[in-house]
Amino acid sequence: MRLLAAPARLLQNPPVRWSILILLCAAACARAQATVAVDVGHFIEEPGATSARGRPELDFNRELAGEIESAARSRGLGTLLIGADGFASRLTQRTAAAAGADFFLSVHHDSVQPHFLETWEYDRVERLFSDRYSGFSLFVSRKSAFVRPSLACASAIGEAMRRAGFSPSLYHADPIPGENKPFADRRNGVHYYDNLIVLKTARTPAVLLEAGVIVNRDEETRMLLAETRRRIAAAVAQGLDRCLPRKNVGPGPTE
Ligand SMILES: [Zn+2]
Repeated sequence: MRLLAAPARLLQNPPVRWSILILLCAAACARAQATVAVDVGHFIEEPGATSARGRPELDFNRELAGEIESAARSRGLGTLLIGADGFASRLTQRTAAAAGADFFLSVHHDSVQPHFLETWEYDRVERLFSDRYSGFSLFVSRKSAFVRPSLACASAIGEAMRRAGFSPSLYHADPIPGENKPFADRRNGVHYYDNLIVLKTARTPAVLLEAGVIVNRDEETRMLLAETRRRIAAAVAQGLDRCLPRKNVGPGPTE
């Protein structure tokens, strides 16, 4: 009895009681928030597309993913940043790192089909570019077990991107080899890309974002601006905040 009496006396002490309550609340709140795994597309050995000025896509992805993580956190979402060190060369590493998250967002920047690329000289080096297309696109897989919630979030992100002044690229639906990715939600720039491994194997709803076309010379210039990253990240976080199930009962952030 004496063993139980000591903790009971402690609970009568107001500072101790509040500390315990805060600790319990912190644990409950952490469980109540939806957590987004923000995946940095590509890795050092295979850094993805090369921009019109020769910058690897991985560098764009890493910067934007970090910004999306901050924006999501500021909206009260939990986050996991995956692949930021550039060493996540295996898909299994990424999905394992995302275990425990409620949503998987893979962050990429876009190129075009090789036959559209032209050459120009930048900084005395011949580079490949195409100013033919610009804009963002979003992808979901119909082979995912979570296609409906994936599509709901892709549409919400696309809508928030449009409201922030960005336009969907739309060219991935073109009936040409390498594209042919049908629209899932044309207005919001969402396509089906059924065999994209990271989407069909994710253990949660999953969306791949192509934030902009970095082989386009003007779009690359825009994507290099911190202000553009901030606006994209804010829109993505707003979309996620809208589509993810709200598990907590507290008041959400204002728009
Ligand atoms: Zn990519």
